[in-house]
Amino acid sequence: MPGQSNNADQFGFKWSKWVPNKCNIFMWRAYLDRLPTKTALIRRNIHVENDVCVWCEEAEESIDHIITGCSVSAGVWHGISVWCRIPEIYVFSVKDVAALHEFCAAEGHKKSLLQGIFIIASWRLWRARNEKLFSGKNSTVADIVADVKTLAFLWYKHRFKGEIVEWERWRSFDVM
Ligand SMILES: [Zn+2]
Repeated sequence: MPGQSNNADQFGFKWSKWVPNKCNIFMWRAYLDRLPTKTALIRRNIHVENDVCVWCEEAEESIDHIITGCSVSAGVWHGISVWCRIPEIYVFSVKDVAALHEFCAAEGHKKSLLQGIFIIASWRLWRARNEKLFSGKNSTVADIVADVKTLAFLWYKHRFKGEIVEWERWRSFDVM
């Protein structure tokens, strides 16, 4: 369960040690495809107006599309890779995102940091999707990336109270 361990649970999902439970739980549900996307609702025979993505209005709205397949998500992953100074991120599924930190850093601390950031970015994409679907609110890729930086900063600080990270350094990912 959240916060207990960084080891994989019975489903192979790894919980982040420092993001809020709501983000870990979101990611776990996404990992198991248990979020109420349009295609998931249709699978359960629940009526939806249409099955297309709220952003591109072309692809079927699955959780993999929202988190990795849409041009909005691709833009967010590009922004995250630039911020975190890691090679361009190519992800095609939630499972790719959940495992991504393993390939981005050798060192444990950076791995843990990146894992949490990837989970927050996924959670924030889902929130942007909900805001668009239910309130008609549009978020740009830049808005979402900026939010991920701020939220990750606040939550990381909250979790590791002893470690002072200055915002200016965090903003340029000078945190190692
Ligand atoms: Zn789309």
